[in-house]
Amino acid sequence: MDYSFQDVRRALARRGPVIRRNTMPVDIPTLLLVFPVVALAMALAVLIVAWGQPRGDGLLQWGAGLLMVALAFPLFILNIRAHGAQPFWMVAGNVLLSLSYALSLAAVSRFHGRPCPRLRTLLPVALAAAGALAFMRQHELRVALGGVLFGLQGAMVAHEVLRRDNASLGRGSWLLALGAGMVVLLYAQRTVGVLLGGTDVALLQVPHTLQIGSQLLGLAGLVFTTLGFILMGRERSDAEHQKLARLDMLTGVPNRRALMDALERMFAQAVRERQPLALLMVDIDRFKRVNDTYGHLAGDAVLAAVASCLGAGLRTQDILGRYGGEEFLVGLPGTDLAGAARLAERLRQSVQDMAVPWAEQSLHVTVSIGVHAQVPAGTAMADAMIDAADQAMYAAKRAGRNRVETQQAAASAAGPA
Ligand code: GH3
Ligand code: MG
Ligand code: MG
Repeated sequence: MDYSFQDVRRALARRGPVIRRNTMPVDIPTLLLVFPVVALAMALAVLIVAWGQPRGDGLLQWGAGLLMVALAFPLFILNIRAHGAQPFWMVAGNVLLSLSYALSLAAVSRFHGRPCPRLRTLLPVALAAAGALAFMRQHELRVALGGVLFGLQGAMVAHEVLRRDNASLGRGSWLLALGAGMVVLLYAQRTVGVLLGGTDVALLQVPHTLQIGSQLLGLAGLVFTTLGFILMGRERSDAEHQKLARLDMLTGVPNRRALMDALERMFAQAVRERQPLALLMVDIDRFKRVNDTYGHLAGDAVLAAVASCLGAGLRTQDILGRYGGEEFLVGLPGTDLAGAARLAERLRQSVQDMAVPWAEQSLHVTVSIGVHAQVPAGTAMADAMIDAADQAMYAAKRAGRNRVETQQAAASAAGPA
């Protein structure tokens, strides 16, 4: 404790009993030692996670930023241990710290697929270097300038994370922004304190409660931002997997599970709002022949083409999904039987007009569509309504294919749930 004893005594003498009451038996350099240890551990963890991953996720930049923190703090500690006699270490530490925030900003931009904002990353680092050199021996000015620059860099990271054009804003983003906010708060407190003269610079090295509190806030900010960034990556890959698990690989439309979930929501809404709901069961005619004549790959191409042709003819609130092998189910909210039959006829016509290019040929197929619509009395009517649309589709097949048949509400007399 000899290093800071004089500082403490001087500061205590200057600040009076208020400061005396608010000091804690904590050794500041020891407390500061926690930073490089935590930063290094997290840097290694992040770089291990980044190993072998696609480079577009910014993890490497984030890990490099943490390494800068791990390098900067020992320099601060050495300067304190040397009673402030090594200002150059402070300069180098400040530059490394500024570089770490710049790398965090670069990492977040990279994560969102944006090019690195060169000016916003490099200018603060250059200013931090120039300022720290210029005010090498003027502690107050150096602390104030560093505080403003680091605070601004923290704010830029928070802004980059919360930008409205980002694809998603999950808990990870909020956690990172919260951590960056803590960093901003820490430097705002330090800068304002120094500028107003309320926080004697000697206090930065004295175990004053405010000083210890702000260091711990900075530590929490470091952990929060890193956890937030890792969580952002995890949330994005979870969302991608979930999306993939709900899409039919071949046609790109929702698979049966996603379709049934969407229909369930549609049914619940129709029941709530007492609105009609229409279902179209679409089946490709004589599809087996396409496979038998041109091969399964040609069949696959036709399936995908039919799906996109059907999708192109629907409104945004409608749902199209792959119900079975070459059967698609369409849900049309707020649509009665007559409206649904008109739409089905348009879809039938557009599939008939479609030519699927295959091995220098044009393949043509038609579809049979069964239509059913009613105001569902309960969500348990879903099965009965799908069955009714299916019956109508089979009626269209029996009537010669490439046509639309409707099934009146009375046929789905399963009754309300
Ligand atoms: P219909 O007009 O009575 O509907 O005759 P169809 O030949 O279309 O009906 P059927 O049910 O006999 O045959 C459906 C065929 O769809 C059989 C199956 O091999 C084919 N099929 C199902 N899923 C796929 C797929 O993912 N890719 C390909 N290429 N074919 C598929
Ligand atoms: Mg068929
Ligand atoms: Mg079929």
